[in-house]
Amino acid sequence: MSTLISDPIAKNGSSVSTESDPAPARAAESSAARAIIVGAGPAGLTAAIELQRQTGVKPVILEASHEIGGISRTVRYKGNRMDIGGHRFFSKSERVMKWWLEMMPVEAGAETNGQLHYQGQQRDVPEPKQAHVSENEDLVMLVRQRKSRIYFLRRFFDYPIKMSADTFRNLGFVRTMRCGFSYLRTTVMPKREEKTLEDFIINRFGRELYLTFFKSYTEKVWGVPCDQISAEWGAQRIKGLSLKGVITHFLKKTLAPKPAGDLSQKQTETSLIERFLYPKYGPGQLWEHVAELVKAGGGEIHMGIHAERVIIEGNRVVAVEGLNDAGERVRFAGDYFFSTMPVRDLVRSIGAVKGQTVPGDVNEVSEGLMYRDFITVGILARKLAVKEKDGAKLKDNWIYIQEPDVTVGRLQIFNNWSPYLVEDDEKTWIGLEYFCNDTDPLWKLTDDEMKRYAVDEIARIGILKAEDVEDAHVVRVAKTYPAYFGSYDRFDVIRGYLDGFENLFLVGRNGMHKYNNQDHSMLTAMTAVENIAKGVKTKSNLWAINTDMEYHEEKAEKQPVAK
Ligand SMILES: Cc1cc2nc3c(=O)[nH]c(=O)nc-3n(C[C@H](O)[C@H](O)[C@H](O)COP(=O)(O)OP(=O)(O)OC[C@H]3O[C@@H](n4cnc5c(N)ncnc54)[C@H](O)[C@@H]3O)c2cc1C
Repeated sequence: MSTLISDPIAKNGSSVSTESDPAPARAAESSAARAIIVGAGPAGLTAAIELQRQTGVKPVILEASHEIGGISRTVRYKGNRMDIGGHRFFSKSERVMKWWLEMMPVEAGAETNGQLHYQGQQRDVPEPKQAHVSENEDLVMLVRQRKSRIYFLRRFFDYPIKMSADTFRNLGFVRTMRCGFSYLRTTVMPKREEKTLEDFIINRFGRELYLTFFKSYTEKVWGVPCDQISAEWGAQRIKGLSLKGVITHFLKKTLAPKPAGDLSQKQTETSLIERFLYPKYGPGQLWEHVAELVKAGGGEIHMGIHAERVIIEGNRVVAVEGLNDAGERVRFAGDYFFSTMPVRDLVRSIGAVKGQTVPGDVNEVSEGLMYRDFITVGILARKLAVKEKDGAKLKDNWIYIQEPDVTVGRLQIFNNWSPYLVEDDEKTWIGLEYFCNDTDPLWKLTDDEMKRYAVDEIARIGILKAEDVEDAHVVRVAKTYPAYFGSYDRFDVIRGYLDGFENLFLVGRNGMHKYNNQDHSMLTAMTAVENIAKGVKTKSNLWAINTDMEYHEEKAEKQPVAK
């Protein structure tokens, strides 16, 4: 709405107007500097609270949805809770680990041996009494045992793949031999040039293992054949993993087991980590707590505001406009701007303002950015049809579904993330994950159709019987995965343009179009705030996070699978 752009912008306030009533901005009482933060996910909330801690700048968060936590939220459904994707709280960053534990101490009685060890350092865990003096004893981190497996040939394989009698038995003699010979062939005659993800994996595992364990799942996640995904993705996400590494790990683990209380497992590759922290009521619990602290500290969080215009003057952003639930246009003026919204949306928001022109090449690259969307179906069942060998309930947190005859990509067992996610612990509460595009027919199914589809698939592969299903709930999450294909190889064009706005900070996962987990999303926000506090002008330190070796992101998912 062009009229608003010419309206006087309240330096420290917001204004509400509708298309027909472009009311002038109302100045707020406070004269303190303000930061407008788009998104109440981990990055936006971390930015907000760090601004309060490190600067006098007042955070004002605009959140399009009515939920706190972004992708890391906890979804509530009839007394049960879902975690979108299953969020492990583990970081190689000491700073992030400390931050999480300051927000939520480890629960009383957790097996930590009184200490946490990480990054080669030792930290005291607060005495249970101290940890529970808080009026809210639900505000605690559980220490969870990690277990995940691959489901293939209607059998369970260890994840990551282990050299074990079970693996060979499940594969069968002929397939095992084929895997061995194809690996030998690769070691003698590797592909000289690794252009695609397929080349990358085959060089490390051989063709047969690639076809058995990697191809189907990876293609479900990305929706494109592995020979069309750049090898660069493998280099960032799964560098270092190879059959050789699996064998070495097997030998090391057999000969030198880790001490029981070591939560850091620094010497352990992240995909092999066996324990992680987990908020009692799912990841959203932590972020809801942070949101309360931000508000208690004088920050504002405006829910249901969809930011869609970014107003520029020279090389500075001066305001963001969004639509509220009533369809009114609301303007938020500020001194600093943090964006965690998808980069493509941000560029469109700049171009959406009359009189503002985004350079052609920036537009072109931005419009070429691609995303992968995600549907998760929570299923409440009386019981599962599969069990552990000893007859006990499955212990996995998540299971990769490698079966090519179904489209479900992964299965979460929420009971095993935290028993507190499930209202009735007699029941099994699982989450089926579908990776898709929002243009796919799957995305457009009605909730009832999607539930039937999911139950049919999971019953077909023998995980449960349809008659044992009591209830189901569908959650669609757009843009869960910023893709490293499309125009991504020209991303520098966008970065150069947006970095040119001196008071605009791109942080987080979609905010930077980077495959960031919570820790990296938080670190980008923390670093941006530090830059403001210290008057640092460069933004290159933000972009270095997650490509920086120190954070070992490339180890974080050592399988060619996506979290
Ligand atoms: C399947 C899956 C599994 C994962 N597992 C893990 C894990 O085990 N451990 C881990 O640490 N991380 C994990 N992650 C990553 C983690 O979810 C993200 O790193 C984190 O949520 C990113 O935080 P963010 O604040 O950058 O973005 P988001 O969480 O995406 O939050 C962005 C927020 O901005 C809002 N928004 C967007 N556009 C607008 C707009 N125009 N106006 C207003 N608001 C807007 C959104 O509604 C959202 O609330 C996983 C992710 C996925 C998809």
